[in-house]
Amino acid sequence: MNYLIKNADLVNIDDLTTEETDILIEGNRIAKIGNGLSCQEAETIDAKGMLALPGFIDCHTHMAQSFIKGPLDDIPITEWLIRLFAIDAKMDEEIYYYATLLGCLESLRFGTTCINEMGDTAHIPEQVRAIADAGIRATYGVSTTDVPENDATPILSIPEALAYHQKVLDTVNAEGKGLIRASVAPAGLPAVSGELAKACKRFADEHGLIYHTHLGEGRQETENVAKAYGLNGEAEALAELGVLDKNVLLAHSIWLSDHEIDLIKEYGAYPVHCPNTNLKISDGIPKIAQMLKKGIPVTIGCDGEASSSNRDMIREARCGAYLQKGVTLDPTVMDASTALKMMTINGAQALGYDDLGLIREGYRADLILADMSNDLGLTDRKHRVSNLIYCGDGHAVDTVFVNGELKLRNKKLVGFDEKKIIEKCNDLIDKLNEAVEA
Ligand SMILES: [Zn+2]
Repeated sequence: MNYLIKNADLVNIDDLTTEETDILIEGNRIAKIGNGLSCQEAETIDAKGMLALPGFIDCHTHMAQSFIKGPLDDIPITEWLIRLFAIDAKMDEEIYYYATLLGCLESLRFGTTCINEMGDTAHIPEQVRAIADAGIRATYGVSTTDVPENDATPILSIPEALAYHQKVLDTVNAEGKGLIRASVAPAGLPAVSGELAKACKRFADEHGLIYHTHLGEGRQETENVAKAYGLNGEAEALAELGVLDKNVLLAHSIWLSDHEIDLIKEYGAYPVHCPNTNLKISDGIPKIAQMLKKGIPVTIGCDGEASSSNRDMIREARCGAYLQKGVTLDPTVMDASTALKMMTINGAQALGYDDLGLIREGYRADLILADMSNDLGLTDRKHRVSNLIYCGDGHAVDTVFVNGELKLRNKKLVGFDEKKIIEKCNDLIDKLNEAVEA
């Protein structure tokens, strides 16, 4: 199916100006941008007054946690992690499928067209099937661990861990429908030995995959790693292990020395800012402003809802921007244009795409239309783009295309009965809560 989007206000993400134009989508690509376009074989979408933006790219997610929003509120990170593993152990195949599906559908609803998912070694086929059924673009890997960070950490041998990464690759190749790419996603050095980290990186490089990991999230855990390696922190350790390079995404990146920020810049790795999690479970505040000033292309991630309670990239970006402004006493850091780049083009680059993250002829057709005309809180035609970031949220998103396919129209998911999905998920969440309490 081809689509002709008429009279949309195309956003320039550098200066936040807009220009009314038509956008023709042919197959999975943006074929043409210009005024007065016509195409007889295309379905026409009237986008008069709507903003056209690249789809958002969420660079750190744990989708199955969409069923664990609430039970782990307001507790310290160590206890949080132990209880998370306990709940996870009660999640069967059906729960994993629907929890992952729900997370993906929430993302689409809020304008996210691509995710970087760190899933679980349990139920890999169900997770891949859920992502594929949702029809969201994804890079998907599973978290592996071989060091007991706490009593609940699953301990794998290196061959066992690599077998899981191989299973991800095989499952994605067989069932990813061309929209999913595999990654290697060891949890993070507090729970991953140097040997496993190196083995994972070798596997990733052999297969041309992204290496996705947590970095410097908990202060105590980071100090433990630093002490064990005789270094200043986890980024120094990754550099020494030969893991750090431009194919590496580093979720959180909080507890870093200035030298480690320089290392990230030097090696070209991509930090993922997850501010809602950092604040809600009191991890700490990363030096994002400093990274941005050095020209590091920081990305944004909503993380898992067990920690962030959020799957809306607009709310995530706003939280991050306000946080950095507040701690630096500098309102110019992480301005609205920078936030928008972190939500789009930076994420595309981090995930290895050179034709994603912008609305441009020839690029993959992942784009959204935001309708702010009926929102009392979003009036002011001139400042719509910054208002979307600073006072809007994902509910403003009206239309979503992923790979040229219509996924959301008139603020409703296409191809899914939202009411049925919500009922089914509520029933399964009740079942999960009962199993955990039993
Ligand atoms: Zn995470």
